[in-house]
Amino acid sequence: MSTDYAVSALAAGDTVRVIAARTTRLVREAQARHGCSPTVTAALGRLLTGAALMGIALNSRERITLQISGDGPVRGLIADVAAGGHVRGFALRPQAERPLNSRGKFDVGGLVGRGFLHVTRTFDTGQPYTSAVPLASGEIGDDLANYFASSEQIPTVVAVGVLANPAGVLAAGGIIAQLLPGADTETIEVLERGAASLPHISALVRDGQTPEDLVHRLAGGLAPRVAGTHPVAFACRCDAERVMKAIVGLGHHTLAEMAASDVDTEATCDFCGQRYYFSPAAIREILESAS
Ligand code: ZN
Repeated sequence: MSTDYAVSALAAGDTVRVIAARTTRLVREAQARHGCSPTVTAALGRLLTGAALMGIALNSRERITLQISGDGPVRGLIADVAAGGHVRGFALRPQAERPLNSRGKFDVGGLVGRGFLHVTRTFDTGQPYTSAVPLASGEIGDDLANYFASSEQIPTVVAVGVLANPAGVLAAGGIIAQLLPGADTETIEVLERGAASLPHISALVRDGQTPEDLVHRLAGGLAPRVAGTHPVAFACRCDAERVMKAIVGLGHHTLAEMAASDVDTEATCDFCGQRYYFSPAAIREILESAS
């Protein structure tokens, strides 16, 4: 299977920015790590794809976290992206499921329900910056477009899609087009027509269309030129040391219980499902160094 990547492009005399990505492997890995149901795979996959698209311009000290919380059966979805196209994420209830909707599609909106999208930008120094917008439909693409329009005042077209069946993820990808200062009304109309006539992104990816092809499908009438190519992959930043710090945060009483136990303490990274084991002797050592 072809590797995942994203491309960024400028169009209409540099008044439109277009970013497109193939994310099939990313979504497949998330599904496998978390054992997601088909509809959760579609929902989480769309959010991971959105994160991948939003993350291509990050430097090594920044990251973006997208958090969806809703009253639907999945309760919440989290995706986070760091420089280098390192994307990770999880669902609060990965096994949640909904029947297909009346159009025979995954009912992602019903799975998510009503709620909020929180977008947090984290920098190496200074406070993280979070903005929250009510969910537009819970279908993820609409919600991201609504975030850009209402929170960043950037008119944005977003399409993210996952093609999956009970056997697994067949294809996934997405595209974002944003109007930059100076864009004229004709440009907006061309983009809107392109978005309206765009087939499902995941079907295009399944048929072998590359991110460059997706850019031309959406913005071909605006003379796009690809400005950069960027890697995209599932990658987590957890390690035993970070997990140990989280365990220390549980407090002296809990640590003492773990140290007195005759079995290892198991801790699992929410983002990637990696399990870490700490022996009672290792926990005792932490207790002693803390006292
Ligand atoms: Zn992890």
